[in-house]
Amino acid sequence: MHEGRLKDKTVLITAAAQGIGRASALACAAEGARVIATDINAPLLEQLAAERAGIEVVTLDVRDGDAVQALAQRTPALDVLFNCAGMVANGSLLDCSEADWDLSFDLNVKSMFRMTRAFLPGMLAHAGAQGSVSVINMASMASSIKGFVNRCAYGATKAAVIGLTKSLAADYVKQGLRANALCPGTVDTPSLRGRIASAADPVQAEKDFIARQPMGRLATVDDITPMVVYLASDESRFVTGQALLVDGGVTI
Ligand code: NAD
Repeated sequence: MHEGRLKDKTVLITAAAQGIGRASALACAAEGARVIATDINAPLLEQLAAERAGIEVVTLDVRDGDAVQALAQRTPALDVLFNCAGMVANGSLLDCSEADWDLSFDLNVKSMFRMTRAFLPGMLAHAGAQGSVSVINMASMASSIKGFVNRCAYGATKAAVIGLTKSLAADYVKQGLRANALCPGTVDTPSLRGRIASAADPVQAEKDFIARQPMGRLATVDDITPMVVYLASDESRFVTGQALLVDGGVTI
């Protein structure tokens, strides 16, 4: 009988109501994990819970330190923490306001600091018994890996995510914690559709997003979730401190 590659694992995912986070919740549940799917969007979380038994949903704003702490207090030790929450602030340095910069860093980077600080002690204690626990941080190909136009704050935050991930990997490797950054290319999600719709010429904007990938198409969320399942599972037990690209050849 196929018992699932994540059998007996508890996986918590942020920003799991739509896009890559949601697809990851479904993929991890399909591999037998107990999934705790969190997001600020309660109605969309309820739809997710209704779609698949075994996914527990919790409304959580990752910018709210008290709420993050409270959730960590009442949640059993995690095997996997997937910090997926993040946003794109469009624009070059001269376009970027201090407010956009601060919001980008708070949501894309400090949320991971908050979440990991809250859940790490329990995960480390659990790692002693289990042998390995995994933190997956959502970065991007737009980061220290490659520069893109109009991604000043975004690229800076995602580069910071890679640095944060490597520091975690270095500090806790002896205690059974693995930490890796996931770096997708251009993925067809509700937020990407929003960026296309808000462009001056949406038809051209979609063509431009597609043209970035030598493979000639956008990624689907299902192109990304196999990497999430791999990093969550013990199949990646010898992989830590890495920035793993799934980008359709952009960085060839
Ligand atoms: P999305 O942007 O469509 O959805 C984001 C989700 O985050 C929404 O459900 C929203 O409710 C939730 N959210 C927003 N603020 C929140 C908060 N304060 N607390 C908790 N949840 C909050 O999803 P996506 O496009 O799949 O992006 C997910 C992650 O993947 C982001 O970190 C993004 O930077 C990264 N990423 C996306 C792409 C892409 O092309 N879509 C590429 C590379 C990386």
